[in-house]
Amino acid sequence: MKRLVITIDGPAGAGKTTVSRKLSDRLGYKYIDTGALYRAVALEAQFAGISPDDDTGLEHLCSKLGLIFVRDKRGLRLLSNNSDITDQIRTPEISMMASAVSARPVVRKYLLDLQRNMCREKGVVFEGRDMGTVVFPDADKKFYLKASPKTRAIRRYKELKSKTSQTVEKVEKEIRLRDENDEKREAAPMKPADDALIIDSTDLSIDDVVEMMLDYILG
Ligand code: C5P
Repeated sequence: MKRLVITIDGPAGAGKTTVSRKLSDRLGYKYIDTGALYRAVALEAQFAGISPDDDTGLEHLCSKLGLIFVRDKRGLRLLSNNSDITDQIRTPEISMMASAVSARPVVRKYLLDLQRNMCREKGVVFEGRDMGTVVFPDADKKFYLKASPKTRAIRRYKELKSKTSQTVEKVEKEIRLRDENDEKREAAPMKPADDALIIDSTDLSIDDVVEMMLDYILG
């Protein structure tokens, strides 16, 4: 069968990462988590003391960044200038900062080229916010995965529980704030592509979602 480009967009906690991993395993495809790239820019900006609204500083930072994904037995790892930052980017602080830098067109432009270059070889599942609308408007199959804010907050809380002392209420507040930033920004706002299949995962298991996607992809 022809190898496809598949996009999965949607808000935090909708299940995109787990679903993308499982779907790509089932299809024998690669999977790319583009949120990690925005998180990497946020982390490096924080190290360098660059404010998320300093476009000149961000542009300079991006021009010197070398971001690559590698796979090892732990899964997909992200290297920034050869150092593994996969675990450091998964904090609530970096989530909020990623949301702020992602609204800056200089950052989006830099990552747009990088993401498109990751698609030279077909057979990829890309997850993010603007994969089906902006980065790969000609993708073969597009999905938009959503769930209620409460459900998403509970899922995220369970993931973060061992790492932070955040309450589920705080997690929900941050999720809602990020949704608002991501939906209202001018540059590539988060929204379903016109030709995306929208799946509400509020009352579905991960496996249910993966099966629905496979049915849609394989026809
Ligand atoms: O998916 P994740 O929660 O890791 O993404 C972190 C942030 O990166 C999002 O809140 C969003 O602001 C930004 N992002 C984006 N476009 C993408 C992927 C992520 O703007 N394609």
